[in-house]
Amino acid sequence: MSCDFQALANAGVQKLMPYQPGKPVEELERELGISESIKLASNENPLGPSPRAIQALGSLLDQLAQYPDGNGFALRNRLAEKLGVEAECITLGNGSNDVLELIARAYLAPGRSAVFSAHAFAVYPLAVQAVGAEARVAAAHAPDHAMPWGHDLAAMADQVTATTRVIFVANPNNPTGTWVDGQSLHDFIAAQPADTLVVVDEAYCEYVEEPDYPDATRWLAEFPNLIVTRTFSKIHGLAGLRIGYAVSHPQVADILNRVRQPFNTNALAQAAALEALDDDAHVRQSVQVNREGLQQLGQAFDERGLGYIPSVGNFICVDVGGEAEPVYQALLHQGVIVRPVGGYGLPRHLRVTVGRAHENRRFIDALDQVLKR
Ligand SMILES: *Cc1c(COP(=O)(O)O)cnc(C)c1O
Repeated sequence: MSCDFQALANAGVQKLMPYQPGKPVEELERELGISESIKLASNENPLGPSPRAIQALGSLLDQLAQYPDGNGFALRNRLAEKLGVEAECITLGNGSNDVLELIARAYLAPGRSAVFSAHAFAVYPLAVQAVGAEARVAAAHAPDHAMPWGHDLAAMADQVTATTRVIFVANPNNPTGTWVDGQSLHDFIAAQPADTLVVVDEAYCEYVEEPDYPDATRWLAEFPNLIVTRTFSKIHGLAGLRIGYAVSHPQVADILNRVRQPFNTNALAQAAALEALDDDAHVRQSVQVNREGLQQLGQAFDERGLGYIPSVGNFICVDVGGEAEPVYQALLHQGVIVRPVGGYGLPRHLRVTVGRAHENRRFIDALDQVLKR
């Protein structure tokens, strides 16, 4: 006797499409039999992690038989100190992706809804659908807006209904690289119902140098319904270890703590994150390499008459002037992995992670080959 195991799954889960990650270098080289490929597809730090983080890992290798500290005492305390909040406000996650899912699991369900923008981070719809909640997607800014395809906070507010329990705001957003200013975001949060959680996803905050860009953690005392999420995957270069966190009202953190796995963050990740957090020089250098890389890429696009979405992250979406998927495929054959973003409603763009100068150059040269310029 057999069963249709797909039909057996929860309704929300049946409709899920798996997240499409950037292609690993090893996979490309295995498939095409090529070497010396570069990956500018997953917004990883081209400088890698802080040397201090790597050193901390080495000293832990003989302790791997032991469970990690399930409460992440040292890291949560250091984060709390840095952010000027109580340690009870911090929830660690296996990547910030994990905390986004914890929020969905704890506060969303069938009959409840979540609001996010079109062209926003792909994990929001996944987390919302998986728990059977309704996704209410707000239209984004028009392509000719100063923040093309960026979050339109007024349109997002319009999507909030009595069933809405969670709003996701990515600042800056991935894949667009657009951002919202402090005054606008503050006013937006202030206008939301007290029983609607506003999640401000600051995965790339360390890169942003705009004077009007807000640090939403400053508003936690003012807005009990605010949750700020951050990660060690991006500027701290620890994507492979999987660690991120949420900062929130202690009651929210207490709830998230009940649904998380007891050991959701591993010992290596906690130790490396603790060191990465204090390596200001590495963060500063990463910001500088990114700033120069964004300029390099922007200038190259300008010279070639290619449009692009102005970005404050460590990635940039370029309009290749036609359907981007074949350009993506052709770049793979040149050994350059970038990210097609058709799945995000941007079929003419490719998202390129900002690399070091020679990697950016390599991408531009490959793009010239492919576009025959
Ligand atoms: C990369 C990213 C994250 C999460 O990454 P983790 O590796 O799970 O910490 C969260 N939000 C946005 C917008 C991202 O781009």
